Amino acid sequence: MTDCLFCRIVRRDSPADIEYEDADVLAFKDIYPKAPVHLLIIPKRHIASVAEMEAGDTDVLGRCLLAARRIGEAKGFGERGYRVTVHCGPEGGQLVYHIHFHFLAGRRAGNA
Ligand code: AMP
Ligand code: ZN
Repeated sequence: MTDCLFCRIVRRDSPADIEYEDADVLAFKDIYPKAPVHLLIIPKRHIASVAEMEAGDTDVLGRCLLAARRIGEAKGFGERGYRVTVHCGPEGGQLVYHIHFHFLAGRRAGNA
């Protein structure tokens, strides 16, 4: 767990462009943005993936979505909208095994 990239970002041991923080949640810019606004919203506590989440994780994951709402409103996307996605496992395209919500905004989403 200590070797997890996103845990290192939480501890400030790795650099990140942090855009939002509260007691349980951190959001920072994706280094390879796929939209004009592309943030990753993570629980500070390590949860590897949706496939490994447990009942006790629902509160903090809900807080991640609340952070998405706050970020969206703060950046002026409350009405226009944005996309929130989660990749899970190898065939879901997950590359970093610390659960994260992609927050994508600034252009119209396709149907994928
Ligand atoms: P995925 O696991 O498929 O949801 O993708 C992981 C995401 O993390 C990708 O969009 C990467 O561009 C992003 N990423 C990887 N390393 C970093 C980093 N050090 N700082 C910010 N974003 C990162
Ligand atoms: Zn982690």
